[in-house]
Amino acid sequence: LACKVSPPATSAAVMAVMKANTRSNTKPELRLRSKLHGMGLRFRKDFLIRCEGRRCRPDIVFTKKKLAVFVDGCFWHHCPIHGRIPVTNAAYWAEKILRNIERDKIDSKLLEEAGWTVLRFWEHEDVVLIAEQIRNFISNRKRGKPPSPTSQGHI
Ligand SMILES: [Zn+2]
Repeated sequence: LACKVSPPATSAAVMAVMKANTRSNTKPELRLRSKLHGMGLRFRKDFLIRCEGRRCRPDIVFTKKKLAVFVDGCFWHHCPIHGRIPVTNAAYWAEKILRNIERDKIDSKLLEEAGWTVLRFWEHEDVVLIAEQIRNFISNRKRGKPPSPTSQGHI
């Protein structure tokens, strides 16, 4: 098994990266939450979803709509624009970040299999645009799901 002990943060730069990327209460999440709230949308934060024995905690959850929203940090989830592996302890960081990416995939897959819709955004994306996408999704749901081929019935 891999050693789980974190190597000491050897430079101020690494410390700064770690500090700026703590999983919870990152700024983009907070801004998105307040934006959604301002739109009159009500949601749960820190809502724990269990599927297949895994514990999954999306950033924003609309329980009735079964919508799970993640705002993935550019560093921890390695966004294509800003994802960087720190030079110091590169192997350690690479492994950790790869594990996050893998976990994201598994979480999305399990949630979708359990009937959830998963929306993932990067923290660098515009919160206004993200909020609009979420609102569109929710208002489409309100108007009724598109009929599935088996439930169309008579006209
Ligand atoms: Zn990014």
